[in-house]
Amino acid sequence: MGIRTGEQYINGLKSRRPEIWLSGRKVTDIVNEEVFRQPILEIAKLYDMQHDPEYQDKITTICEETGERVSNAFIVPKNYEDLMRRRALFEAWAESTFGLMGRTPDFLNVTVTSMASSPDFFEQYNPEWAENIQNYYKYIRDNDLFLTHALINPQNDRSKPSHQQKDMFTHLGVVEETSEGLIVRGTKMLATLAPITDEVIIYSFPGFKPGDERYALSFAIPIDSPGLRILCREPMQNGKRPLFDHPLASRFEEMDAVLVFNDVLVPWNRVFMYNNIEAANQLYSKTGLSQNTHQNGVRGLVKLRFAAQVAARLADAIGVDGYLNVQTQLGELIQSVETIRALLRTAEIEFSVNERGEAIPASVPLETIRGILPRAYPRAIEIIQTIGAGGLLMSPTGSDFDQVDLREDLDKYYGGRSGVSALERVRLFKLAWDLCGEAFGQRLVQYERYYSGDPVRKLGMFYMSYKQKHSFSMVDEALDGVLQEKTVSL
Ligand SMILES: Cc1cc2nc3c(=O)[nH]c(=O)nc-3n(C[C@H](O)[C@H](O)[C@H](O)COP(=O)(O)OP(=O)(O)OC[C@H]3O[C@@H](n4cnc5c(N)ncnc54)[C@H](O)[C@@H]3O)c2cc1C
Repeated sequence: MGIRTGEQYINGLKSRRPEIWLSGRKVTDIVNEEVFRQPILEIAKLYDMQHDPEYQDKITTICEETGERVSNAFIVPKNYEDLMRRRALFEAWAESTFGLMGRTPDFLNVTVTSMASSPDFFEQYNPEWAENIQNYYKYIRDNDLFLTHALINPQNDRSKPSHQQKDMFTHLGVVEETSEGLIVRGTKMLATLAPITDEVIIYSFPGFKPGDERYALSFAIPIDSPGLRILCREPMQNGKRPLFDHPLASRFEEMDAVLVFNDVLVPWNRVFMYNNIEAANQLYSKTGLSQNTHQNGVRGLVKLRFAAQVAARLADAIGVDGYLNVQTQLGELIQSVETIRALLRTAEIEFSVNERGEAIPASVPLETIRGILPRAYPRAIEIIQTIGAGGLLMSPTGSDFDQVDLREDLDKYYGGRSGVSALERVRLFKLAWDLCGEAFGQRLVQYERYYSGDPVRKLGMFYMSYKQKHSFSMVDEALDGVLQEKTVSL
């Protein structure tokens, strides 16, 4: 089939009946459910872009194997040009969502592509796993599927490994093997967008301890698999006219969910790893799994750029950007954007080709982006809060604007500097408040901190890996210089 349209994506959602719980009730009609409707349309728009002549050649490609057009997320990059084709997709989709949706389909499509392009890693443990991951890659490529993923265990007792939790199946683990496949039970915390995806893939960050064998697994199944329950967090949209009152939250809310597996069957051909602690702990470092950091970097840059532009427009709208303190904050923000942009370009230009012939962006600049964004993005939000100040809280609602009796007051007292009408200023401030004040905006901050693991441990791992590859020899050279001088003076 190759690339899907938005309508095909929506028809796929309509054809399934996943067990979704939202605010104490079961969702039966996902595409007409208020909280999901607009985000579904935003994702559908991305699929439609694949058919838009303006984008098609930039973000899709003809698959050599099938002759069908597929998303650029499925390219196994061989050179710089391939990396740039993939980047064009990341960028076009991130710009369409202002970087506010982190888990658009390209994220996991590129993740599975990179897993499948490391068959030797899986083969050393079990040739069937290698075959399964490669077939799965082809399946999602040829059907253009949208995946969610759930890596981490629920936050019950982080001081103990999985096998020492209160219940053997608090964390997701294998109950038994059957002729058809594995039966799995337990929970994974946090699968973003799960309710509106086609499939879920399970794998984990490293950290398995001896005794954790049953939890060391990776697989993918349809999101409506029997026994799989999706528990949504509280929705963040509200207001009578959500598009007016919450212009970002109403469009780009990525629902997060806990996944509960009640004895779910995972067919053997969908098992990518099982009962192997060493394999599970090495999945990240020994496969190209980190290729998705390229998507993260591009999307993160677009999001920070958006925040910087919102801050600048706020300052302009109320005539405060002539003040030095406001200018320095905006300057700081723009320099953060330029830092991320430069790191991304460095990662792309300094790509390397691995032993399998796969082009990989340089990891140090990408990991540096990963380290900087959890500080740069919250700072951007703080700057928006500081520049918008009290006005951010004082916007009337869309319903107020509908009241003829109020209109004169609103037009008179809510306008901005000369030339900025009340409606323009209020719309801008509502957008800014969604980004910097509402629960939606706070989630976006939390996302930037945690979307790819705990930044604290990541930075520690970054340092240890950097240390392994760098000898810090300048210090020796400097010390040698001191010795030589001593020798001469003696
Ligand atoms: C908005 C959002 C969306 C997300 N989307 C997804 C998704 O789609 N799929 C997915 O799989 N995950 C997703 N995540 C989850 C993300 O992977 C985790 O939040 C992240 O890995 C951190 O794990 P945790 O939240 O369980 O925190 P914990 O690991 O419980 O950490 C809590 C605190 O304890 C500290 N801590 C815990 N253990 C240690 C240790 N061993 N050493 C030192 N310090 C420690 C941490 O530094 C932190 O301060 C998402 C998270 C957010 C916020």
